[in-house]
Order: sequence, then structure tokens, then C-alpha cells
Amino acid sequence: MMMHKEATDEMTALLKAHKVEKSPYRSFNQISDQWERYCHEVTTLLLQSVSKVLNLHLRKASSYTSDVLSKAADSDASLVFKGRIQYNPSTGRPIKQSDWKKLEEAIKKFLGAEVGSMQEKMISDSFWLGTLINRLNDETKRVKTSLKKIDLRDQDWSKFDYTDYDTDQIQVSQQAAGIYLQNVSDNARSQIQKVLTQGVRDHTPKHKLYQNLWDLEEDINRDWDRVVRTETSYATSNGNLISQLRQEPDEEHIFMIGLSAPGACDSCDGLIHDRVVVLVEKPSDSDSIDIDGKTYTAIWPGKTNFGRTVRNYWTTVPMHPYCRCLWTRWFIELEDYMRS
Ligand SMILES: [Zn+2]
Repeated sequence: MMMHKEATDEMTALLKAHKVEKSPYRSFNQISDQWERYCHEVTTLLLQSVSKVLNLHLRKASSYTSDVLSKAADSDASLVFKGRIQYNPSTGRPIKQSDWKKLEEAIKKFLGAEVGSMQEKMISDSFWLGTLINRLNDETKRVKTSLKKIDLRDQDWSKFDYTDYDTDQIQVSQQAAGIYLQNVSDNARSQIQKVLTQGVRDHTPKHKLYQNLWDLEEDINRDWDRVVRTETSYATSNGNLISQLRQEPDEEHIFMIGLSAPGACDSCDGLIHDRVVVLVEKPSDSDSIDIDGKTYTAIWPGKTNFGRTVRNYWTTVPMHPYCRCLWTRWFIELEDYMRS
């Protein structure tokens, strides 16, 4: 009976948290926010540097300074030019091909350095966070603990018996995040190119060009945000699931229940919310599993809808960052009690 009470309290705490937070886990939201801020700073530095190179007006740097961010100002990652490229709309002369090449190479190098370290750190930190949160001993702590209180250094996966398959998951996620971040950075580069080309063609005055350039900021940031929120959510959830598996290695079946935010999309509402699933170690061709004459959906770390159409969506974790879905431990013997 005692266990019933605790489990009910846990569910109540989660449901309550869901009403106010993007994810009911505070630290999961915070790690997404932190990386979004980091990316926004990268955008600012990039646009500043491009403006400077073209001899446009300078804008003051934002004062966001954390350990993660100071790295962005690293000289290796900054735009470096032998000579300054002048933007000269009055002559109507295009920015020379060679000038653009130089600028483009510098932008690539700058963003490339960021994407490389971002994909690695963002994903392993998120996995590690998912692991540590799962190890906290009660749900209220899991929900309420702030990112500040969690030490993301010294990520010793062996401490929690992570297998090779588990750590492969981290690498795969890093590579996937790298591809998406690369897409954002390629897109940012081509948007900047478009603004400059159009500016020369239309004889756009410098102050207007400067404005057009900075108008890109919001678009670029939105692109970063989508990737950051998706990939950090995916990694924290997977870290959480792997940790769950390693924590209860002797359990015959680990049941989990899905929780989605109010207002989640139809897919999440249908496939995740309130669904009891079985957490298994590894992928298989079918995601249904029979236990004691009942059929359940199986989930596993790394299960994804990548390459599937909406009609064929699987129940995965998570599907959409803004639907705020997550899985939490479920005890099948409580079913009648909880649902009454
Ligand atoms: Zn959704």
C-alpha cells in the first residue's frame, strides 16, 4: 500500500509540473535554454564579424558570458581576414568573387568550429543529465532540481554500467545533431550571401544593408532553436531510458507510461500520452511485445521516427520537442488502483 501512495504522489507531481513547464523536468528545459542562448551568441558574433568585414556599422556585443560561451570568442573560431572587404553599392561593383570566397571560407570555418564542439558537448551533456536525473531518488527531486545543482563534468559512463551499445547511442546522436547543426550553419551562410548579392544588385545603401543583415538574426536563431530543442530533448530522454535499464537490470519487464503536455499534437496525444509501454534493451523489427496475454508497444533507447511518414509513426521518445513528452516508470500492478 505504501508503494501505491508514493507512485501516486509521483504521478501527481509530474502532472502538475507538466502544466507550467516545457518538459516537466526543470533541468531538461534549462539545458535546452542554455544551448539556445549559446547558439544565439554564435549568430551575434557571426553577424558582427560580417558587418565589420564589410565596413558596416558595428553593433555592441551582448554581455552574455558563461563558461560555455566564452569559448565562442576563441580566436580559432573567429572570422579572420587578410584584408577588409569593402561593400560599395555606389559603384555598383559586385563584391568580387574572390572576396566572397574569402568571406565564405571564413564563415564556414567559424561556424564549423562551433558546430563541431556543439554536437559533442551538447549531446553528451544532455545524455549525462538524463542519466543523473534518473538516479535521483524521488520524482519531486527529478522534476524540481535545477541544472545548476547538477555536475555535468567527469562523465564516467562506466560508473552506471553503460554498455557499448549505450555509448554508441551517444555517438550516433552526436553525429545526427552534427548533421542538423551543419544544415543550419549552411543555411545561415547562404542567407548572408543572398543579402549581400541582392544588396549589390539593388545598390542598397550601407545602413540598409546592415539592417537587412541583422534582420537575418531571428531566422537563424529560430533554425538553431529547433535543432537544439529537438536534439537535447532526444538525448536527455535517451540518457534517462538507458539509465533506467541499467538501474534495474534484473527486472523481467520495465513498464513505462507516457506523458504529453496539454495541447500536444495529435500524433503525440495518440501514440504517447497515457500509453503504457515496455522498455527493452535493443531495437527490433516489430515494436509490439506480448506479455501475459496482453500486447504492449516496446520502446528502446534510440528508437526514432527518422525516415517514417506521419501515418507510420512509431511510439518513440520524444517525437516533438514542443509536445514535451516523456516516459516515466510505471508499475503494472498499480493499474487498477491508478485508473479507478
Ligand atoms: Zn507531437
